[in-house]
Amino acid sequence: MTVSLVWLRRDLRLSDNPALAQAIADGRPILFLFHLDSERLGRHDVDGTHIQWELDCLDRLRHDIENRGGIVLFRFGHVLASLNELNAEHNLHTIYGNEESGLQWSWERDKSVAKWCQENDVNFEEFPSNGVVRRLRSRDDWKTLRDRRIDASIIEAPQRISSVKTLHSDLIPHATSFGLEVREHQYRPEPGETAAMDTLFSFLDERGRGYRKGMSSPISGASMCSRLSPYLSSGCISIRQIFYHTKRKQRRIKTNPRSAENRGWSGSLSSYQSRLAWHCHFMQRLEAEATLDEQAMNPELDALLVRPYDEEKFLAWANGTTGWPFFDACMRSLRATGWINFRMRAMMQSVASYTLWLPWRVTGAHLARQFLDYEPGIHWSQIQMQSGVTGINSVRAYSILKQSKDQDPDGKFIKRWVPELRDVPLERIHEPWLMSQEEQTDVSCIIGIDYPEPIVDEKVTRKEGISQAYKAKADAEAKLRSKMVYLVHGSRKRSRFQQASHQK
Ligand SMILES: Cc1cc2nc3c(=O)[nH]c(=O)nc-3n(C[C@H](O)[C@H](O)[C@H](O)COP(=O)(O)OP(=O)(O)OC[C@H]3O[C@@H](n4cnc5c(N)ncnc54)[C@H](O)[C@@H]3O)c2cc1C
Repeated sequence: MTVSLVWLRRDLRLSDNPALAQAIADGRPILFLFHLDSERLGRHDVDGTHIQWELDCLDRLRHDIENRGGIVLFRFGHVLASLNELNAEHNLHTIYGNEESGLQWSWERDKSVAKWCQENDVNFEEFPSNGVVRRLRSRDDWKTLRDRRIDASIIEAPQRISSVKTLHSDLIPHATSFGLEVREHQYRPEPGETAAMDTLFSFLDERGRGYRKGMSSPISGASMCSRLSPYLSSGCISIRQIFYHTKRKQRRIKTNPRSAENRGWSGSLSSYQSRLAWHCHFMQRLEAEATLDEQAMNPELDALLVRPYDEEKFLAWANGTTGWPFFDACMRSLRATGWINFRMRAMMQSVASYTLWLPWRVTGAHLARQFLDYEPGIHWSQIQMQSGVTGINSVRAYSILKQSKDQDPDGKFIKRWVPELRDVPLERIHEPWLMSQEEQTDVSCIIGIDYPEPIVDEKVTRKEGISQAYKAKADAEAKLRSKMVYLVHGSRKRSRFQQASHQK
């Protein structure tokens, strides 16, 4: 008897899972394998918290698979060693998996599995499961292909899974058993496919009504953003499922947009869909260049922007002790919860790269370890964009002071995450260093002792960072490279860059 192996990677769900659907259609007994790759653990972007999240999602999936008669095997180490063992024991016929767009190490792993399959006379079938197109010939074609994928029908979860009768599932271990440190997060989401669906419906039923206006503030964004990102990154839900239910909601709204029940939804749903579209757009960049965590899209530009590592600045940035209240509140909130909204992520990275002039590889890896939803394709594309090393995006260096006043006008977020400033009056909360000695004594917060002085003068260093970035962007070789970067990675929505390069 031969067996089918469904190789679970970042697709921890039963519904809308093309690899599983094909394995079931082919009719052989199925074993599921989740493989924790030892080479992943020591990487600069990986944290025990990511692994634990995946293992928790896997544990829920194991439960759902067992309820349908299936079996989940867990292995740790080198994937080829595990495949040798499983093949010897179960006589593998075909390995089924959904395509993964990961960093170079995961490409090497997948290539080695394909080679192993060839050598061992085992079939290897991979399936696209989102809008990322493998072996894409031209970015010009991408949107059409992506839309076709996203509009395809959703695959139902199977009712029954036939398996090897004599076997039992493995217990799913805790990440600490691999020597990993797992930080406890406040407000950690519930893992698994059912929780992902519940989160989607709570967003589409009510939370998302204020999305358009609420998404930019870390306070309103926490409830008005969908919060689906950790589920997407572990694959508990597919991007197609999210689009499908969002479009259904949109159709319902359109029948009577002015009713009290539907008010506010139309703009929010269209903003939401454009954010969703970015998901696969950025992941497509990593599909084209798997080394985005190390290699800048525009290496000429990167070489001109020499950013040395400065330990003191890095630690203040990473620990939320820069002396800029709103920035510190954002960083501390991220560390405590594993999530923060898009605008604040962009601010964090742009402060690192422009205001503090720190190297993006180091700060990008630090942020990756903090985000529960770490998704390499989105993450490294955004890190490079916010650091000005793509050449195809405008230079955007966020002012902390402006964000502080715009997004936290009452200083509530600051006071929550930076308790040292609890008693500072509203007129000084965004710039406590302006307090007189007397005021500092009155509120028991001596700047430089109880709370740090700003690590640098933001107005001065940010301006310097911006001017360095513009200077580098004007370099002839960097400009030439930017045109090439646009051809491979640029959004085909008409942008200023595209218009300018068409005019030339
Ligand atoms: C420096 C930086 C690093 C980032 N790293 C990650 C990361 O590792 N993982 C990750 O999922 N997102 C990342 N993002 C994008 C974005 O901040 C998060 O997707 C979003 O905050 C997640 O919360 P949400 O699911 O509630 O988002 P929502 O606003 O509800 O959006 C829904 C979904 O749309 C997609 N999306 C939204 N904004 C973007 C965007 N700008 N680019 C690409 N996709 C987007 C995500 O899949 C998200 O889950 C990063 C952004 C920046 C600036």
